[in-house]
Amino acid sequence: MTWEERWHPLRQEWVIVAAHRQHRPWSGNTLQEQAPRPPAYVSDCYLCPGNVRVSGQHNEHYKGVFVFDNDHPAVGPLAPRDLTPPVGLYRARPASGQARVVCYSPRHDVSLAELEIEEIVALLSTWQAEYRRLGAEPEVSHVLVFENRGEAVGVSNPHPHCQIYATNFVFRTIEVEVEASRRYRLETGRLLFQDIIAAEAQDGRRILVENESAIAFLPYFARYAYETYVAPKRTVPSIAELAPNELLDLAGALKHVLVCFDNLWKMPFPYVMALHQAPTDGGNYGAFHFHIEFHPPLRKPNLLKYLAGPEIGGGCFLSDTAPEEKALELRSAKGPHYRQAQP
Ligand SMILES: [Zn+2]
Repeated sequence: MTWEERWHPLRQEWVIVAAHRQHRPWSGNTLQEQAPRPPAYVSDCYLCPGNVRVSGQHNEHYKGVFVFDNDHPAVGPLAPRDLTPPVGLYRARPASGQARVVCYSPRHDVSLAELEIEEIVALLSTWQAEYRRLGAEPEVSHVLVFENRGEAVGVSNPHPHCQIYATNFVFRTIEVEVEASRRYRLETGRLLFQDIIAAEAQDGRRILVENESAIAFLPYFARYAYETYVAPKRTVPSIAELAPNELLDLAGALKHVLVCFDNLWKMPFPYVMALHQAPTDGGNYGAFHFHIEFHPPLRKPNLLKYLAGPEIGGGCFLSDTAPEEKALELRSAKGPHYRQAQP
């Protein structure tokens, strides 16, 4: 039984870990069973090669990674500039920036976990190029790369892809992490994420995989049951700083984690993945450590983690599981991927 509060040093908040709640009686709704594997090409998929998108544009007959401007952008260069001034103390500004879509593969039926290492490296190289190019735009203060995977997080199209929001502001979570990292170095002379890696290595129970230059672990302060961080060991502010050998190691760690996810319940494991990268507004972010965070919404195969009183009402997480136990589960689910394994 774990029943305690753990400090989240990046988010600067407490996480309540009450792992004895996991087995409490449950009589709520459950998610639907996952659909069978889709075909490799779907004629009405807006991401498959050669197909027409809602904008009327045709996708290229692409063979590898394919990037295009989002047809339904949340931020964009065409955002209206002549806003109606709001009443009283309220403020508004144009939602300028750029929204992009990145297809991982021309194949509709594969996931990031099932791509070959070289294909994942090609994707990471694309993320490097997009971060550099978008980040260099004068109006762009931050580049958020993220993937929503699965119906549990609102995505019905399984074609493997992620999105990029290049915005005129810095997302809140990054702002908090940047400030926590900066203050930690000021107060201790040390790097926050390096000390997190050191603590994880010292404990060892939550590490999923480690190679020469990359590491993956469920952090001590995880908020979601299977929350996982994948990071280079060297402190760099963004993925753009990584050398080819570091990209290769990062790809290996990513694949290892994703296969464990899918193998755990023999289903495409839903998650929100986000690259945590330094802002591109010209500031000094030497204390910030680029890393990738996975937030899977499920606690059990058909049971969502609901955000309720503590999370929505109070702004802090209550975790029903201990990351030590969940890491043990994931560690026992390593490769090969269940859909590729020979019977
Ligand atoms: Zn498709």
